[in-house]
Amino acid sequence: MTLSDNVHRLTRHHLTLSTKKVTTVPPLLDQLAEAVHSNTRTRSGGRNERGLPINSDAIDLWKELDTQVRTAEANRTGTTRGHLTQILQRWKNLTDPHLTQITTNMVTQIENLLDPPPPRRPIRQPCPACDQEWTHDTAGDRKPALTANVYDPEGGVLPPTEWDIHCAECQAQWHPNDPAFKILIQLLTTTQEAVIR
Ligand SMILES: [Zn+2]
Repeated sequence: MTLSDNVHRLTRHHLTLSTKKVTTVPPLLDQLAEAVHSNTRTRSGGRNERGLPINSDAIDLWKELDTQVRTAEANRTGTTRGHLTQILQRWKNLTDPHLTQITTNMVTQIENLLDPPPPRRPIRQPCPACDQEWTHDTAGDRKPALTANVYDPEGGVLPPTEWDIHCAECQAQWHPNDPAFKILIQLLTTTQEAVIR
């Protein structure tokens, strides 16, 4: 995606492909602002406090993106005047890899918050690369190190030959087109049924 494409999706009504149908949707920034006051549960598990119709994940993301955009604009022009939309509109005809990167991440982060990807399933086996079965997340909770994208976006189960497998402990990653992937799947096949369940 180009900088101009990203700015368009963030700040203007745009076309999107959802369940094989092209529809026009509001700017991603408007959708994020809307999500702040929705009860949508988001991927990071941020559950709203009882009685407060506020989505804290959406607020946190808005603040983070606002800071990123204003910092980049301050570095570029020395000023951060205007609404986020106005600042981004000023970027749309520029050629700047840094701003392209920022806006690409913005699009991805907002889309993931609004429409979280299917959850990854843990694989309860030691990682073939680092031999660790467990890892700790940022909150210090113990989690299985190996996970796979067992589900497709419609909620169906993918065959193991289409999984990508990731180790959160050593960051090793295996895709179906890796030479080692078949061996890994064979190693894990013994527990495949337990994984799906
Ligand atoms: Zn590992």
